[in-house]
Amino acid sequence: MSGNRVKRKRTFDTTAAQAGVGADKAFGAVSVPIYPTAIYRYDAFGKNRGYDYSRGENPTRHAAEEALAALEGGTCAVAFSSGMSAIAAVMTLFRSGDHVLCSDDLYGGTYRLFERILAGYGLRFDYVDMGDAEAVRRRIRKRTKALFIETPTNPLMKIADLRGAARVASGAGIVSIVDNTFLSPVLQRPIPLGIDIVVHSATKFLGGHNDLIGGAVIVSDPSLAEKMRFAQKAVGAILSPWDAWLLLRGIKTLHLRVARAQENAIALVRFLSSHPFVRKVFYPGLPGHPGAKLHASQADGPGSIISFELARERAVPRFLSSLKTVLLAESVGGVESLITHPATMTHADIPPEEQAAVGLTPSLVRLSAGVEHIDDLVSDLAQALGKARR
Ligand SMILES: *Cc1c(COP(=O)(O)O)cnc(C)c1O
Repeated sequence: MSGNRVKRKRTFDTTAAQAGVGADKAFGAVSVPIYPTAIYRYDAFGKNRGYDYSRGENPTRHAAEEALAALEGGTCAVAFSSGMSAIAAVMTLFRSGDHVLCSDDLYGGTYRLFERILAGYGLRFDYVDMGDAEAVRRRIRKRTKALFIETPTNPLMKIADLRGAARVASGAGIVSIVDNTFLSPVLQRPIPLGIDIVVHSATKFLGGHNDLIGGAVIVSDPSLAEKMRFAQKAVGAILSPWDAWLLLRGIKTLHLRVARAQENAIALVRFLSSHPFVRKVFYPGLPGHPGAKLHASQADGPGSIISFELARERAVPRFLSSLKTVLLAESVGGVESLITHPATMTHADIPPEEQAAVGLTPSLVRLSAGVEHIDDLVSDLAQALGKARR
């Protein structure tokens, strides 16, 4: 029977675990070597080995990019020095006067880039609920060039319709972009659903250990790939070889970390939902979540990020200051559980009126479950909620 097997695509887990394996042609090193070199010597006039200057190409970065493309189901990935520089590179596709329709509860840093930098170059942004593809289609104008989507959104966990958005965008001849940071490719792969461009803050789940800042753009269309490679080289916000190596190492356990963090999150949601000092829990895995069904149709799990409102706004500072195991810090997706106060921390650049308009209240906190033991996380939240009673 052997020798006649149907060729089967590698599973996601194996692709992740073996990220970078095979990249070293010189010695067969299993761990991709770090190439901290700016330049590459030519073998002869007009003849090099595919590398000339590391802003354009670097072997360590290249190995990380190959891994990212494979995990997202794209054909090309381009790695950047941060999630924000990846998003900024994508925005070089647009020109003055162009209009972009965005999810209405966007990551604070993305909103800041759009409104406080790019608006000054004549780009225009509108914010809509991406849960209803038909409503999105009606908001498209003559100068609309793209949809910029987060799902689940940050911090209110609204769900966008990815297949619907892909259909609307291709029907209108515009580009669909998804920031896939919150779920990682373990749980959601927008490109196979028809989305054109995926962006990531690799600082979060992909790196996974809170030891690097990085970003990535993944595409499958060859002309978009060429434009993104050009933007990377022209703007120059590249991922360093050291960080590319750390990213590769993080990716090797991505599927394990994401699964464990999600398991913890599901247990924490159960605990929080029945706690008297918690008013409301936002989590796409809850049957009462308005986007739960849509989410389940396009993602493989609810993820490990939970937002919840305390019953009393006044209790927020005491609750956050009382936590001992869960760290008060501004990020998500690492091995450590983190908690943040969006209104004053991650989303402080969004004006209070706009925060209120989307439902982001000062009593809301956002928790990213890590991979610690669940008993330690529950008991920490329980003691801090107890102190928040007063
Ligand atoms: C963190 C984050 C970003 C920005 O990424 P950096 O790596 O911090 O520059 C963008 N989008 C989302 C959803 C994020 O969580």
